[in-house]
Amino acid sequence: MNIQAIKGVKDILPGEVEVWQYIENKARSVFETYGFSEIRAPIFEYTELFSRSIGETTDIVEKEMYTFEDTTGKKITLRPEGTAPVVRAYIEHQLYNKAHITKLYYFGPMFRHERPQAGRYRQGYQIGAEVFGIDSPILDAEILSILNNLMEAIDVKGLDLQINSLGCKECRPKYKEALKQFLKDKLPLLCENCQRRMDRNPLRVLDCKGKTCKDAVKDAPIILDYLCDGCKKHFDKVKETLKILNVSYTLNPRLVRGLDYYTKTTFELVSTNLGAQNAVAAGGRYDGLVEELGGPKTPGIGFAIGIERLASLMEKDNFKTNKPDVFIATLGDKAKDISVSLIDSLREKGIKAETDYEDASLKSQMRKADKLGARYVLIIGEDEIKRGSALLRDMEKKTQDSLSIDALVHALSAKLAVS
Ligand code: ATP
Ligand code: MG
Repeated sequence: MNIQAIKGVKDILPGEVEVWQYIENKARSVFETYGFSEIRAPIFEYTELFSRSIGETTDIVEKEMYTFEDTTGKKITLRPEGTAPVVRAYIEHQLYNKAHITKLYYFGPMFRHERPQAGRYRQGYQIGAEVFGIDSPILDAEILSILNNLMEAIDVKGLDLQINSLGCKECRPKYKEALKQFLKDKLPLLCENCQRRMDRNPLRVLDCKGKTCKDAVKDAPIILDYLCDGCKKHFDKVKETLKILNVSYTLNPRLVRGLDYYTKTTFELVSTNLGAQNAVAAGGRYDGLVEELGGPKTPGIGFAIGIERLASLMEKDNFKTNKPDVFIATLGDKAKDISVSLIDSLREKGIKAETDYEDASLKSQMRKADKLGARYVLIIGEDEIKRGSALLRDMEKKTQDSLSIDALVHALSAKLAVS
């Protein structure tokens, strides 16, 4: 049997890749407007980076990581998410000494050993952003505004921004305790996974997708009732600023994230047009993470967008594949020779020129030009060469012009500039 791609991964082929490029270009442009710079971190790290930051009792660390030993016996993991590597790089290169506030964005693949299904891949791509150094609630609102603006820039509709606060190390333990007390009676209703993790991490139950667990937490206490004064004030200011920035949101007091490092403001951007995997983007504040990983006490906040899910919400017909401006059809060896240098000159000018490299009939070359979607076809034959001219066929208007070969590059540039 032919070798096939690994289960749960996806090839992004021409026809779809244009949507991805469009999203990436818009994201780049929005991020740069907000003063972010790109960071390219490696796709693998020591396993400990993830187990320590994401948390031992999370789905990701418990069962989704691609971990292996290298030849020296070191445990290595293909990154399941982008925040921990960026934090690691931030600390390793002491970026905190270079600026008071550090804003970074990244694109790239993440790896999770999950059950492959719609919107869930084992190599999934994310666009992410992280900001270090500031714990102002105004920044939290601005981060949400970036997400909002990006979605507007790429014109995706039907999204609901859900926000919550997860408190801090002062108030969360009290909530955890209250939740644990509440869940004690419900223990038999919980799935095996949640029963096991209940003691160490009762918040995970709120995030469980299982129906019985969902039912069990219906009347559970909510964290917003347990926030300390500082966290409450912070969250109120976030909401206030979101109003000023015209970012609409839904308050979801049951929203917790599948990663342990979040504090205070957390959020998810969910789509009403996706099935079960409806979160397009997610993120939040993580004020303890830099310190936890050995850096100085530094607040941080960020988000990650799932590109596959976002792309699936976009109308693919609106995107053009890469088509040539002009296809050069030649008849005879001399014409072919002329076309070689002509194509070279055209490309030097940034004109997308193609030819078929073979000795096919004119009819066959025209068919190829049509299939490629060429805007113009330039026909060079024996007679044309004698006259020092070539025929330019406009494939849209179905008209034909005779042009001087010497002035061709210039004439074509002019035509393409207006069409
Ligand atoms: P979910 O609740 O869907 O499992 P998550 O909480 O695991 O998502 P995050 O770790 O926050 O997701 O990742 C950020 C975004 O990346 C998600 O909102 C989603 O759009 C996307 N994403 C997460 N896991 C996958 C995956 N396996 N395949 C494709 N995209 C994914
Ligand atoms: Mg997940």
